[in-house]
Amino acid sequence: MQPLQDSYRQRGQRRALVALLREQRGIRDERVLAALGAVPRHLFFEPAFETHAYQDKAFPIGEGQTISQPTMVAYQTELLGVQPGHQVLEIGTGSGYQFAVLCQLTTGVQSIEFNAVLYERGRQRLAALGLPTTGLHLGDGSLGLPALAPFDRILVTAGAPALPPALLRQLRIGGRLVVPVGTTDPGRQQLLRITREGPEAFVREELGDCRFVPLRGAAGWQG
Ligand code: SAM
Repeated sequence: MQPLQDSYRQRGQRRALVALLREQRGIRDERVLAALGAVPRHLFFEPAFETHAYQDKAFPIGEGQTISQPTMVAYQTELLGVQPGHQVLEIGTGSGYQFAVLCQLTTGVQSIEFNAVLYERGRQRLAALGLPTTGLHLGDGSLGLPALAPFDRILVTAGAPALPPALLRQLRIGGRLVVPVGTTDPGRQQLLRITREGPEAFVREELGDCRFVPLRGAAGWQG
């Protein structure tokens, strides 16, 4: 892993990225913008791509996976509306960047990663940054994390073929699930926000097209 340096230049690039998100990408929640401003995205990159870390683009993180585009990280985080004290579950730790952003907003963040190599890399990186790695889990996030449910907020950062039933069950009443769902093509999804208004009452909002790597596991894409 590269040394944990956050240079004057990188801090400037990060400020410029946050300004872009605010002024040109329509992100309005100042707490979300501050969270992205506080997390050094370059430290979540493979060395070969590090100089690109403050572009508004997704990049490879190894194992065929990606760190999501900053606009999407900010938009999904804004849609979640995380408040201090919320218990949040992320599916798809990947690089750990989104986890680090969520940790700026509440102390109760859990994240599950399916790929053992990425899980271990993310754990080491987040530990080096002083973030709480007790919230990291290796496993099939399409089944949620029943032992720690219910959650106020659940964020899925991979594209599901359908709404994962376990995640709906693990949502607290009043809770929100933000998830990309693409029923026919594993690489194209509609971003959904589901609000649980009662034990069996779920309100669904469709919030635009997106592209995520496929969700794997029992409620994910097979093969
Ligand atoms: N949130 C990540 C970040 O900030 O870097 C980006 C996530 S990447 C777009 C999607 C991640 O979901 C990959 O790391 C992939 O291995 C993981 N994934 C796919 N299916 C999963 C599952 N069933 N459970 C947990 N993680 C899964």
